[in-house]
Amino acid sequence: MRYVQIDTQSDPESSTFPSTEKQKDLSGLLASELREMGLADAHMDEWGYVYATIPANTNKKVPVICFCSHVDTAPDCSGTHVKPILHQNYQGQNIILPDDPTQVISPVNHPYLLERIGDDIITASGLTLLGADDKAGVAVIMELVQRLQKDPSILHGAVRILFTPDEEVGRGVEHVDMQKLAADFGYTLDGSERGSLEFETFSADGVEITIQGVIAHPGSAKGKMINAIKLASAFLDALPKDEWAPEVTEGREGFVHPTDIRGGAESATIKFIIRDFDTARLKEHEARLEATLKTILSAYPQCSYSFIVREQYRNMREVLDQHPDIIRHAKSAMKACGIDPISLPVRGGTDGSRLSFMGLPCPNLFTGEMALHSKQEFVSVQDMEKSVDVLVQLLKEWEQAAVE
Ligand SMILES: [Zn+2]
Repeated sequence: MRYVQIDTQSDPESSTFPSTEKQKDLSGLLASELREMGLADAHMDEWGYVYATIPANTNKKVPVICFCSHVDTAPDCSGTHVKPILHQNYQGQNIILPDDPTQVISPVNHPYLLERIGDDIITASGLTLLGADDKAGVAVIMELVQRLQKDPSILHGAVRILFTPDEEVGRGVEHVDMQKLAADFGYTLDGSERGSLEFETFSADGVEITIQGVIAHPGSAKGKMINAIKLASAFLDALPKDEWAPEVTEGREGFVHPTDIRGGAESATIKFIIRDFDTARLKEHEARLEATLKTILSAYPQCSYSFIVREQYRNMREVLDQHPDIIRHAKSAMKACGIDPISLPVRGGTDGSRLSFMGLPCPNLFTGEMALHSKQEFVSVQDMEKSVDVLVQLLKEWEQAAVE
């Protein structure tokens, strides 16, 4: 509740790093709290990343594990003057937020609340988001540090803490110093409901198509002009309406999605994002997209086009499949804490998908944060506590599995 009151909203329009200086207000505080808890190397670097190490307390050769969460909150909703409210012993009622009574968090809109009867629920007050995304993850990691420092009977290898800025604007790993981090693998603490264990994300490409028409003075264009705007429109209209688009797909289905169009009669440029869980299928989507374009342009031999594909990110599962113990231990740690692991494919990317391909395999674990990026965001205190329990158990299991 203390961390969410510090405004750390990131800004997609900013070209600085971190995108907003105020994110360092929380990061600096976390670094000093980590030092107070005895982590001598805890510090915030020039970019606003916090690094810290809990040294190993075992002689076994245990891999170095990183726990990571992000300090920034989403640009979608104000993060200024957040007033967290603790609703003790929740009993299934509607939660009316006092600063804007039209904001009602109800079990109808958020059925997960019915699984949390008896828990203590934290919400914002109606005018802002809460920022449990991802300060729940931050709190879980800070609590873990405290628990390990207080209880030396929990044997573990070296644990690396990483707090990142700018996750919400897609730049969270831009300046991570992998050398300094020197971890074997990691877990992001940025998942939602209890038991959530995410290790599969989209693979993603971007495509930029530019169509060249034939320009002429409109007063004497007869038989000459071919308007690139009209060609672009015909191409977009030729895309299927009932499949192959985000608005008509779910689960494991991939799609192509135009995100931007600009241009004039002479030339027009359309940007697409291409998404699938199977990386090989990205090429099929791109081929189909280009074939559709060619069909439209086939009637206009005077016109041309360019079709540029750029790789964006890849399904972290490709990396994690090579390190099955990372998921296996996460699942067994949850089960040991009485939790059924839930693994759904993420129809998006995470900091973990980029970290996984930067050499730090990194699935995502639950923290309890719900209704993200909205004024109705909430989190159960008991979910956060369970998340800490799982991390403790996870560290124990990795230590037990290691050799002298
Ligand atoms: Zn997040």
